[in-house]
Amino acid sequence: MRMKTLGRSGLKVSAVGLGSNNFGMKCDQVQTDAVVHRALDLGITLFDTADIYGNRGGSETMLGKALGARRKDVVLATKFGMAMGDGEYMKGGSRRYIMNAVEASLKRLGTDYIDLYQLHFPDPETPIEETLSALDDLVRAGKVRYIGSSNLSGWQIVEAWYVAEKNGFPKFITAQNHYNLLDRKIEQEVVPAAKAYGASVLPYFPLASGMLTGKYKRGQGGPSDARLMLWGDRAKSILTDANFDIVEKLETFAASRGHTLLDLAFGWLASQAHVGSVIAGATKPEQVELNVKAGEWELSAEELAEVGRISFRL
Ligand code: NAP
Repeated sequence: MRMKTLGRSGLKVSAVGLGSNNFGMKCDQVQTDAVVHRALDLGITLFDTADIYGNRGGSETMLGKALGARRKDVVLATKFGMAMGDGEYMKGGSRRYIMNAVEASLKRLGTDYIDLYQLHFPDPETPIEETLSALDDLVRAGKVRYIGSSNLSGWQIVEAWYVAEKNGFPKFITAQNHYNLLDRKIEQEVVPAAKAYGASVLPYFPLASGMLTGKYKRGQGGPSDARLMLWGDRAKSILTDANFDIVEKLETFAASRGHTLLDLAFGWLASQAHVGSVIAGATKPEQVELNVKAGEWELSAEELAEVGRISFRL
């Protein structure tokens, strides 16, 4: 397994990671154990979850149980900030909330430290000074090792860096944002900001929820148990003709080099220096096997440029 360093830090993670938003939703504990154990056996070291996943807490609980004693061998990443209940005190980036949220996550995960603690969404009602100051205290207390951001815009990444620099707070070493071959919007502001300010991009929805696996065909849909088939109307914005136009060209490009569309979806992300780890979710161990193999394709500069042209849209 190829390893990559996260941002301006000494933390190394596997180029292919595992997302955990199926745990406690589509996957029960038995399926979660199977997926997590296969990931561990194949050399995946980054496991990404969030307090909210799995109906508020289910994913952290199941992931913690599945890792068991092997927790010490991995980089465990989770997130805080999305509403974990009703009312003002159950969400956000305030000191009051963070101090409670971290204890709840530690308990569910069954660990006494979190390797990467990420602000899930920007909280416009809390000064970033307050959020970073609370995270600084958690790092100093040994409850958190590194901090990351998620869904921040470019200017918010820059603002957080300057506030951290001015106050001696830790800096975000990752920027987790929506990024795949069908959605490259973050290349305009987020990627340049992350590169300039020492953060690796952790792309979420790297497979466009499965659209980039090759299992959905124009006019035919996909397997009946697959996510986009179960989503009904919600999937209509992904299974569009415009997306199939690009997907079919990408498939042809990959096939001409002896690869699959899935290989290209992972390889294109993993081959970019500023991408830290490709954290795709999986519902079956066989998917993890294919995903790890897909991450091995290192595209040349010419191949990256050609794929960039095929997938470009305004
Ligand atoms: P994704 O990686 O685009 O899609 C994953 C889904 O594709 C799987 O659940 C599986 O669904 C299918 N799949 C995966 N590997 C496959 C393979 N080899 N062959 C065929 N199908 C395959 O999206 P995601 O898992 O939702 O997102 C990745 C991770 O990013 C999440 O787990 C989460 O940790 C994180 N995330 C973060 C945010 C944020 O706001 N920070 C938002 C969303 C997600 P089926 O088997 O059901 O088809």
